[in-house]
Amino acid sequence: MSEPRFVDVALPVPLSRAFTYKVPAGLLLEPGMRVAVPFSGQKLAGFVLREHDTQPEGVKRIMQVAGLFEHEPVFPDELLRFLLRAADYYLAPAGEVLKSAAPLLPKEAMKQLKQSGFVTDAGELKGRKISAQTTWRVRHAALSEGLRLGVRQRALLALLAERGEVLLPELSQHIPNARSLVRALAEKQLLTYEEVELEHDRFFAAALPTELPFQANREQAHAIEILSARLFTEKPGAFLLHGVTGSGKTEVYLQVVQQALARDGGALVLVPEIALTPQLVARFRARFGEGIAVLHSGLGDRERNAAWRALRRGELRLAIGARSALFAPVPRLSVLIVDEEHDPSFKQEEGFRYHGRDMALLRAQMAGALCVLGTATPSVESYFLTEQGRMQRLELRERAKQQLMPKVEVVDLARNPGNGPGGHPLLTGPLHRALERCLAADEQAILFLNRRGFAPSLRCSSCTELLRCPACSVSLTEHRRAGLLRCHYCDFTTHVSEACPSCGKLTLERMGVGTERIEDALISSFPGARVGRLDRDTAAGRGVEEVLDRMRERKLDILVGTQMVTKGHDLPGVTLVGVLMADQSLAFPDFRASERTFQLLAQVAGRAGRGDLPGRVVLQTYQPNHFAVRHALNHDYLGFYREEIIQREELSYVPHARLVAVRADAGDDAVTRRIIDGLAGIARNTPEVRSGVVALLGPAPAPISRIRGRYRWRFLLRSRSREQLRTVAQAVAARIQEGVAPGRAHVDVDPVSML
Ligand code: ADP
Ligand code: ZN
Repeated sequence: MSEPRFVDVALPVPLSRAFTYKVPAGLLLEPGMRVAVPFSGQKLAGFVLREHDTQPEGVKRIMQVAGLFEHEPVFPDELLRFLLRAADYYLAPAGEVLKSAAPLLPKEAMKQLKQSGFVTDAGELKGRKISAQTTWRVRHAALSEGLRLGVRQRALLALLAERGEVLLPELSQHIPNARSLVRALAEKQLLTYEEVELEHDRFFAAALPTELPFQANREQAHAIEILSARLFTEKPGAFLLHGVTGSGKTEVYLQVVQQALARDGGALVLVPEIALTPQLVARFRARFGEGIAVLHSGLGDRERNAAWRALRRGELRLAIGARSALFAPVPRLSVLIVDEEHDPSFKQEEGFRYHGRDMALLRAQMAGALCVLGTATPSVESYFLTEQGRMQRLELRERAKQQLMPKVEVVDLARNPGNGPGGHPLLTGPLHRALERCLAADEQAILFLNRRGFAPSLRCSSCTELLRCPACSVSLTEHRRAGLLRCHYCDFTTHVSEACPSCGKLTLERMGVGTERIEDALISSFPGARVGRLDRDTAAGRGVEEVLDRMRERKLDILVGTQMVTKGHDLPGVTLVGVLMADQSLAFPDFRASERTFQLLAQVAGRAGRGDLPGRVVLQTYQPNHFAVRHALNHDYLGFYREEIIQREELSYVPHARLVAVRADAGDDAVTRRIIDGLAGIARNTPEVRSGVVALLGPAPAPISRIRGRYRWRFLLRSRSREQLRTVAQAVAARIQEGVAPGRAHVDVDPVSML
């Protein structure tokens, strides 16, 4: 008789340790396989970490693996090792990390497990419920005034009024319970709907003309040569591709990926938010046709699993997607590209809080793959790495077709530049004149204001009461098109009333300006102009693509929007960019506020003059002498970096020191406070904090002290010693895992959000 065999299994429970189970005779298990195991009275799906023959000590009755979901390991070895290291780095439970990275288990598999207690292979179960995916297309009918409708019904109709027709999944993104609301409204004959078959995937909806590689210019050719030479070498290393806006970084990515694929390697491309960058995906598709897995949040479970399997089996070797695509099982990974590496959306802010860019560097290094981080405005962290020689830098100093960088004109809002004829304070005289000239020449303009809605807050001028969200410590934003007040943190909505809810007087004042209000001001100031808007409210579903298409086809003259307009869009007709108020992001309680401001300004300026005509930027600000503003004016990244890095050094901030945030939130302020105090006490008692090697900052209430009815407290740990910081963070994480505050506290290593 052979020795009993055991496996260590990582389970999706908030504990870092693995659990040991006996392997039934005849079952062959490998690391990365997904198994069903009994765990405190239920069955859980977990992942095999290793097999061994050591009987665990001190365990009376060791339980047995109950089933195997797939005959192949879900994770190839390279990916499994990387995920475990990532979990360890972020002090996150390995089982939860593996679960979040893996494709979803078919529902039938779990059902069968519950019934029979054993599964052999979930693969055999698939194909049972595969029918054509259908959904509802909802059309707007008529809206008669004076009907009594609920807030959500009204919001739904407002959306339909704007869009004409919408698919149900899109509606559901905006409005909870959309399906039943649609039914109810159809009964009232306020809308119609029909069932339609969904396209397979909207990124594959239109056939694209194939595109041939450009003749690379001198700088591009140099970068492509250096990078390609590193492919398939023993230590390909990491590169920062620092190329000014419009320098043609995409072409560099495309040609390097091309070479990797040609030599039978796999490639992975990460982009900030795939819905916001349809152009980049389109260029990859035009170059590589159908041989590319596009991973985005709009995919259904079935499509996501299909993409995973195609990569896993090696049928596809190229994947492109937002941060979670980092976990795609790309075979023979040989190059990993992170486009717009500075973008804050690479940080996952809930659950497994990882940074997509940092982890891309790690995965590439572990896999022996080349890593390329591309941007016009490098994160301070990445540039610092190049200064330390830990990452190499490649520069593209000129635009792809030698176009000039746009000229920037500053309008000092503090010096009362005078309103344009429309009278709106943010459409100043100088901006108005620039827009007039732009429109007269039949060119296009982009206006950037980082606030959506009509008015960011409403205040009663009699009792000074601010209209606040009942669940969050923020004011409600007026969305006039929808006729609603909305909370941007929890999506609470209510009607706009003309009377103050506190004193009843009709003296509510609109404070501040959002994109909707600018859109209105533009329409009345420039009656002939076609004005479009791009922000969270208009971007749902294909909204971004539609707006960008209309810009490209010259069906719009002016596009106003939030930071969405600053992304990498390549719109050759745009010659004027207006920054309505550059200061908003400077006021953030965040040590990265200057960096973020520089990035936004340099990026939005980079949208101008990408075609044959020269570009121009009108930048309105109250702080023309702030260094972030000054260097953005001159497109001078290095100038910005040099000043910023000195401040970071003086204040002992990233990247000189490292940070860990510990946050707690609960429904009661006193309870939250007690949790955070308890955790801070653990940290304070460590030798590292006592000796001062690790600084403890706080605890204090978060700048937004309540969200969704939960009070928020936090403290920061800061140190120049990565190891000692980790020791303290580990002690805190262990305390949280002990169940002191399940679901009410977490550790965030290298935090990005300071709110
Ligand atoms: P970036 O991402 O660096 O801002 P893009 O990759 O969007 O720049 O390229 C800017 C524009 O230049 C695009 O329209 C692209 O098609 C064009 N382009 C890039 N490389 C070349 C080249 N070698 N020759 C001609 N046009 C190019
Ligand atoms: Zn709220």
